[in-house]
Amino acid sequence: MQQRRIGAHLSVGKGLVSAAKSMVAMGGNALQIFSGSPRGWARKPLDQEKADALISYCKDHDFGPVILHALYLVNLTGDRDDLIQNSIKSLIYDLHYSAQIHGSGVVVHLGSHLGKGFDAVFDDLVGRLKTILDATPKTSTFLIENSAGQEGKLCSKLEDIRRIFDALPTYVKDGRLGWCFDTCHGFAAGYDLLTIDAEMQRYQLLNALKVIHLNDSRDPFASGRDRHENIGEGMIGRGILQKFLQKPLLSRLPLILEVPGFDGNGPDAKNVEIVKSLL
Ligand SMILES: [Zn+2]
Ligand SMILES: [Zn+2]
Repeated sequence: MQQRRIGAHLSVGKGLVSAAKSMVAMGGNALQIFSGSPRGWARKPLDQEKADALISYCKDHDFGPVILHALYLVNLTGDRDDLIQNSIKSLIYDLHYSAQIHGSGVVVHLGSHLGKGFDAVFDDLVGRLKTILDATPKTSTFLIENSAGQEGKLCSKLEDIRRIFDALPTYVKDGRLGWCFDTCHGFAAGYDLLTIDAEMQRYQLLNALKVIHLNDSRDPFASGRDRHENIGEGMIGRGILQKFLQKPLLSRLPLILEVPGFDGNGPDAKNVEIVKSLL
């Protein structure tokens, strides 16, 4: 059986291959990155040479998957048209980028309904998702991330993700549309991580689940807040995370850490080591 995939969100400031090497140095074998600066929309085309270097590295070192994370600036359901257009443009860019590096998908926080409610933004959202998927390579995958539900953030409930999938069934079937489960967000949104696999099964969401964001939570159960903590150091704790990680239905999924790190500089070897001790 293939070794469990453990990675983290790392900076690509020093280049793609350098980020992959840092991950290996931490004891990991998978990676999540931004396609550029998370603080701005500006992007330039990715040199094919740089993409090829990463693809070779992954092949030679049995490394991957490499997942992209969309910008936090993205909001597909806001009330400013320029922001929506920038969001669509940047997601199209990221899906192309993901295909170029042979990545396994782009994880996206869809945005917030800003108090209007999910129903009010649903049709526009589905239309925009379709626009993005139709403008991007068939080898790219759009992954919806569950949220903690803060400030009207979309998809804190599994049924909301199910509803989007039901509106775009061919894309789900073709592997173009899937989702990512974040343990911190799920816990903060009031999901019991000990029974979450049954809940996913109930909404027939297991097939489309492509990656786990493995984070502890600084805030209590059902707090609706989104603040990550190092593995085992937060309100979820080692015991529950261990039972979650040992669920057979979830054992094929890559794990990506988005934790603050024990020295505050982001994911580190110690977090990877703790995850391994829980498997
Ligand atoms: Zn996450
Ligand atoms: Zn988060």
